Amino acid sequence: RPVILSGMQPSSGSLHLGNYLGALGNWVRMQQDYDAYFFVVDLHAITVPQDPDALRAATRATAAQYIAAGIDPQQSTLFIQSHVPAHAELAWVLNTLTGFGEAARMTQFKDKSAKHGTDAASVGLFTYPILMSADILLYQADAVPVGDDQRQHLELTRDLATRFNSRFGETFVVPEAFIGKEGARIYDLQHPTAKMSKSAESDAGLIRVMDEANVTKKKIMRAVTDADGEIRFDREAKPGIANLLTIFATMTGRTTDSLVEEFAGGGYGDLKKALVEVVTERLGAIRTRTLELLDDPAELDRTLGAAADRANERAEATLATVYDRIGLLRRP
Ligand code: ATP
Ligand code: MG
Repeated sequence: RPVILSGMQPSSGSLHLGNYLGALGNWVRMQQDYDAYFFVVDLHAITVPQDPDALRAATRATAAQYIAAGIDPQQSTLFIQSHVPAHAELAWVLNTLTGFGEAARMTQFKDKSAKHGTDAASVGLFTYPILMSADILLYQADAVPVGDDQRQHLELTRDLATRFNSRFGETFVVPEAFIGKEGARIYDLQHPTAKMSKSAESDAGLIRVMDEANVTKKKIMRAVTDADGEIRFDREAKPGIANLLTIFATMTGRTTDSLVEEFAGGGYGDLKKALVEVVTERLGAIRTRTLELLDDPAELDRTLGAAADRANERAEATLATVYDRIGLLRRP
């Protein structure tokens, strides 16, 4: 079976609607047809400052949300990135194969470092896409289901795989990005031209999986729209409404056209109310299940431990080949 792999950062302890609709929901649908590896990228999370205890709790909570959303840990390998040392080891090798200018072209670093100032940004944040390349190449993944914001990082991964293969001989599978059509990019409810992100400045535009229903309701009802009062899908002229329609469509599997048809007669309030129902019902179920799983951390840790063993086996095999190919002396 073809291999897929994907991960998310544990920051803040709750995934958001963009993570769910752009990535996690697709993972759940794909896991039957692929040999799937899903992991929580704690090593990526520390590229910005984290509180140690909060990070530990958020890492468990993120794994629990994967399961609660429908990832089956019997079927898929669900593990924690730092439990597999080969990620950091292969990242070092790939660092030596990446041009400085090549890394400097990554727009996510430019966006994120602009927020904190380049001096405050860590070198780890700069090399984030190289660690991500290592994550993917270690497992010989055929496809990587991610949101549209990861397109450029996937290109870098493909370039590095191709470069390594041509320099040292066929070693890595060159992975394809798998980017869903609907939900590939969910926008902030308050700034509907900026992607919904856990590192957003304000909380009001961010729907969290772990928010209580009344909080989610308030955020949706206060979502920024526009003054013309007409419900139609127009990303340019009406980004707020377009975003609400996209969320609705992706959640329900309906088309935005059919939603426009249904809601065209009414006001924005009716659309928002119906969306509140859809979103709170789905997220409520995930939240409840997550809290149950977190009630038994020992059981969750057993699941993660078994998966780490499987992941390590596959990753170590790739790393050993890489070390051999580049000429590192085998440990006697
Ligand atoms: P940050 O902004 O701090 O990078 P994030 O919200 O992008 O956080 P990540 O853990 O970096 O979260 O991303 C996890 C997955 O969620 C990736 O596959 C990414 O493409 C997807 N994703 C993130 N934000 C969105 C969004 N707004 N719409 C669709 N997919 C998204
Ligand atoms: Mg991100």
